Amino acid sequence: MQRKTQSDTPAQPPDALVPPPDADHDHDRCRDALLEEAERRCAERRQRLTPQRRRVLAVIADGHTAIGAYEIMDRLAEDGSRPAPISVYRALDFLMALGLVHRLASLNAFVACAGPERAHGAQFLICRGCGVVGELNDAEVDRAIGTAAAAAGFAVTAPLVEVNGLCRSCRDSNVPA
Ligand SMILES: [Zn+2]
Ligand SMILES: [Zn+2]
Ligand SMILES: [Zn+2]
Repeated sequence: MQRKTQSDTPAQPPDALVPPPDADHDHDRCRDALLEEAERRCAERRQRLTPQRRRVLAVIADGHTAIGAYEIMDRLAEDGSRPAPISVYRALDFLMALGLVHRLASLNAFVACAGPERAHGAQFLICRGCGVVGELNDAEVDRAIGTAAAAAGFAVTAPLVEVNGLCRSCRDSNVPA
C-alpha cells in the first residue's frame, strides 16, 4: 500500500501507482500494511475484522497475483478445516465493500487493492507471464471512460479496466510476448 508522493509528472496523477512491484521488494511490508489498513477501516466503520475475514485477506495479500475463491479455500484448509464456500464469498464481499480487495472479472479471481482509500476506478495491469497484477488509478482514464460513456447515454458505476501484457521483469527475462 505504498502511495506515491507529490513528485509525479502531470501524466501520472498523485494517486496513480506505478506497479507491479519488483520481485525482490520487501513483501512483508505490503502485507502488514494491508492488514493494518483493514483494521483501521473496520474500526472507522465500526465493523469487525473477524478471524475469517482476516484470514481471507491474509491469503489474498500474500502475493501480487490474483487468486481464485477455490484456491483461497484450499489455502485456508491447509491450516485447519476447509471453510464453507459461502463463508469465503461473504468475507470476499465484505473485503470488496471495504475497498481492500478487487475482483478481476477476466480471471475470475481476487487481488489486494494497491490504491487509495477513496472510491476509485482502476486499471489493472495483468502480467500474463508471471501473473503479477499492478493497479493504476489514473483519473484521466476514469474521466475519458465517463465522458465517452455519457455520450452513449451510459452511466458508469465502476470504470474498471483490465489490461493484459508483460511486466518489466518478464520482459527483462524475455518471456515471449
Ligand atoms: Zn508486495
Ligand atoms: Zn484499488
Ligand atoms: Zn510478469
